[in-house]
Amino acid sequence: MFLAGAECPYTCSFCDLWRWTLDGPTPPGALPAQLSRALESLAPPLPHRLKLYNASNFFDRRAVPAEDLPRIAELAAPFAAVTVESHANTIGPSTLEFAALLSGKLEVAVGLETVHPVAAAHLNKKLELDRFDRAAGFLAEHDIDLRVFVLLGAPYVPVEESIEWTLRTVEYAAGLGAGRIAVIPVRGGNGEIERLQHLGAFVPPTLAQLEHALEQCRGIRSAVVTADLWDIERLPGCESCRPQRVARIQSMNLSPSPEAPAPIPCSACA
Ligand code: SF4
Ligand SMILES: [Zn+2]
Repeated sequence: MFLAGAECPYTCSFCDLWRWTLDGPTPPGALPAQLSRALESLAPPLPHRLKLYNASNFFDRRAVPAEDLPRIAELAAPFAAVTVESHANTIGPSTLEFAALLSGKLEVAVGLETVHPVAAAHLNKKLELDRFDRAAGFLAEHDIDLRVFVLLGAPYVPVEESIEWTLRTVEYAAGLGAGRIAVIPVRGGNGEIERLQHLGAFVPPTLAQLEHALEQCRGIRSAVVTADLWDIERLPGCESCRPQRVARIQSMNLSPSPEAPAPIPCSACA
């Protein structure tokens, strides 16, 4: 469920979520009203997991008013698992308060993005690696699941090292207990990424790189690693084999087998 609320106070260079936010703080009652209306339109059977994405940090009280948490938890009661998003910096006591209100198991989705030190410093995310480590440890200690977002093609990662740094970041997240890891190719469209591209600091990741990055993650057994297919048609790639490559990524997303499906032969881009 995509909920509209206050804008995130961070300004990560790759993020365009501010386009779907309100100008001021989220008015109390707004999120429960949106959620309730959206749930009414869901035909049974209900899915196992409810993801509440508010284009910001769920534990930022400007984005999610504290007085709305009991009603949100009540509306989420039919679901066995509930996922919310948060910057590592806002994970803390309010995370535990929400977990205690829920009937289902809480999972927090956190953007680690990249462990490449230069690129991480340029993301404008204000995330220190040790803060991420502490947030992951805090969640594990309180039996709250961790989902992690990892970028492919983060600005300032040399293009020839792009897949390697994505793999390293995925391995890092898995090592800290992430159960689900989504690899997200960086997409343009927010203006800042286009500026960085113009400066030579960003090269758009390709469909083939996404496919190879996911393939390299097959060996990780402690986490489910998937590729984000949002706007997949915008990723640069060979038009002759694009549908087969997207299908191959989809099949890797859905299969836990460590064996990758057969490679795609293509005379146009071989
Ligand atoms: S913290 Fe998340 S929502 Fe906020 S700007 Fe960064 S990526 Fe976007
Ligand atoms: Zn091809």
